[in-house]
Amino acid sequence: RFLSSFAMAPSAKIQLNDKEVEVPTGIFINNEWHYAADSSTFEVLNPANGQVITSVAHGKSEDVDKAVSAARKAFKTTWGKNVGPEERASLLLKLADLMERDQQLLAEIESVNGGKGVRIARDLDIGDTIGCLRYYAGWAGKVHGETIETAPKTKLAYTLLEPLGVAGQVIPWNYPIGMWGWKVAPALAAGCSIVMKPSELTPLSALYLCKLIKEAGYPAGAVNLVPGFGQTAGAAIASHMDIDKVAFTGSVMTGRKIMEAAAKSNLKKVTLELGGKSPVLVFPSADLEEAANWAALGCFFNSGQDCTAGSRLLVHEEVHDKFIEILVAKAKACAIGNPLDEATSFGPLISSAQRDKVLSYVDSGVSEGAKVATGGKKWKAENGGFYVEPTVLTGCKPSMQCVREEIFGPVMSVMTFRSEEEALEMANDSIYGLAAGVFTGNAKQAMRVSGELSAGTVWVNQYNVLSNAVPFGGVRQSGIGRELGLAGIKEYLSTKSVHHNVGEDLSWPL
Ligand code: NAD
Repeated sequence: RFLSSFAMAPSAKIQLNDKEVEVPTGIFINNEWHYAADSSTFEVLNPANGQVITSVAHGKSEDVDKAVSAARKAFKTTWGKNVGPEERASLLLKLADLMERDQQLLAEIESVNGGKGVRIARDLDIGDTIGCLRYYAGWAGKVHGETIETAPKTKLAYTLLEPLGVAGQVIPWNYPIGMWGWKVAPALAAGCSIVMKPSELTPLSALYLCKLIKEAGYPAGAVNLVPGFGQTAGAAIASHMDIDKVAFTGSVMTGRKIMEAAAKSNLKKVTLELGGKSPVLVFPSADLEEAANWAALGCFFNSGQDCTAGSRLLVHEEVHDKFIEILVAKAKACAIGNPLDEATSFGPLISSAQRDKVLSYVDSGVSEGAKVATGGKKWKAENGGFYVEPTVLTGCKPSMQCVREEIFGPVMSVMTFRSEEEALEMANDSIYGLAAGVFTGNAKQAMRVSGELSAGTVWVNQYNVLSNAVPFGGVRQSGIGRELGLAGIKEYLSTKSVHHNVGEDLSWPL
C-alpha cells in the first residue's frame, strides 16, 4: 500500500538496439501506474538469449477489482454513452498517430520481448495495428441501429446499438501488439471500457501502449491493463461479476476455462479466438514455385507461432516430390537470426517450454514413421535462445499426433492425396476449423474446394493474408465470434429494441 501511494511509478530501463529506454512495468488503472496490491512481480525474458529483461507487477484479483471499478466508473461518467462517435474516432486516430511516431521503438520492444524480427514487427505487426485503429475509427459513427415497421400508422420500433459496457480482454504472446489492436480498436470504437491482461510472457509492448493511451487523451479508466498470469489476473477477469464481455485469444484449453468461468459467474458474453491445425492443399495445376512460397510463409511466419499456421500440407501425389524439393529449399532459406537485426524474419520461439514442446512433436512424428526432410533441431542453442529450425516432416499419416494436434512452432506435416474428394476429407478431418489454403490453377476447382473446406478463413492461391476489413474467426473448436471487419465491432455492441406507440389506444379488459 505504501508503495502504491508514495513510491515513484514502477518502470525500468531496458536495452534496445542501440539505446536504453525507460518502460513502464506497473499496473495501469485510471491513467495511473500502480504496484501490485501485494507488491509481487514476475520476470520477463528475452527469448533470443534467455536473459531476464526486467520484472513487471503481478496483478491478481484485488488489482483486477480496482481496474474493473475504474472501467465501470469511466463507462458511466466520462466514456461509454457519454462520448459521441466523432470523439471516439478522433481519439483512435490520435492513438494511431502516436503509435506511428513511436513505431521503431515499439518494434524494438516487441522484438526484444517477443523474438520477432524487428522489421517484421515494425512494418507488419505494428503497421497493421495502426491500420486497425484507423479502420475502426472509421466505423465509430457508422454502425447504426434500424427502424422497423411493426403496425401501420400506430407503431414505430427502432433498434439502438449500445456499447456492451466493461470488456475484459485476455491476449496471448504470439502477436502481443497485433492482438492488443484487434481487441482495443473495436472495443473503443464501440465505446466500451477495457480491462486487459497481456500474456505474462510478453507484457512490455502493451505496457508501453498504455502511455500512449494516456497521451492520446482517453479519459481515466477507459483502458486499464493488469499484467499477470492466467490463473491469477486472467481467471479474475473471466469470473468477474461486473465485466460484461470477455474477449480471449489463446489455446482451446484456456478458452474452455474462460467460458466455464463466464458461465459460472454472471454469464458474460464470450468471444474466443482459439487454435488451429490448418490444411494447405496443393493440386497438380498449381504454380508450384508460388505455392511453395506461400506454404512456407503459411507455416514459418512468426516462427510457426501462428494460430492460422498452415501446418498440415496436403499435396497431390503426382507433384509431391517436386513440391517438397522446392519447399525444403524455401525452408532452408528462412532468414534465422538475431531478432534485432533488420534482415531477420525468423526468430526464436517464445520460451524454452515452447521449444521443447515443438521438438517433442518432431520426435513423436519420427517415432510414428515420418521423415525429417529438413530441420527438426534446435538452432544455435549455445546462444541461449529458444530457436527451432524450420522443419518439414514428410510421409505423415492422418492418425499421427503431429498431424492432429496444434504444434505452434515451425513444423509442417506433409501428406499426399490422389483425388479432390480425398483431399477434402483429409482437410476437414480435424477438431479445428480456423483456416485453410488451396493452390490450384483451375478456377472451378478453387470455387468448389473453398466452398467445401470447413474453416473460418480460406485462402486461394495465397496464405496468411489478412485485412482489417475482413472478419476473422473459427468454426468448431477454433472459436466463437469474429474479430475485424464490421462483425468485429458488433461483438462489442448490444442491440436495444425500442417500441413506440404513436396511435393505438388499448381497450381494457382484452
Ligand atoms: P494460453 O491459452 O496459454 O494463454 C493465452 C492467454 O490466456 C494468456 O494471457 C494467459 O495468461 C491467459 N490464461 C491462461 N490461463 C487462463 C485462465 N485460466 N483464465 C484466464 N486467462 C488465462 O495460450 P498461449 O500459450 O498464450 O497462446 C498460444 C495459443 O493461442 C495457441 O493454441 C494458439 O493457436 C492460440 N492463438 C489463437 C489465435 C486466434 O486468433 N485464433 C491467435 C493467437 C493464438
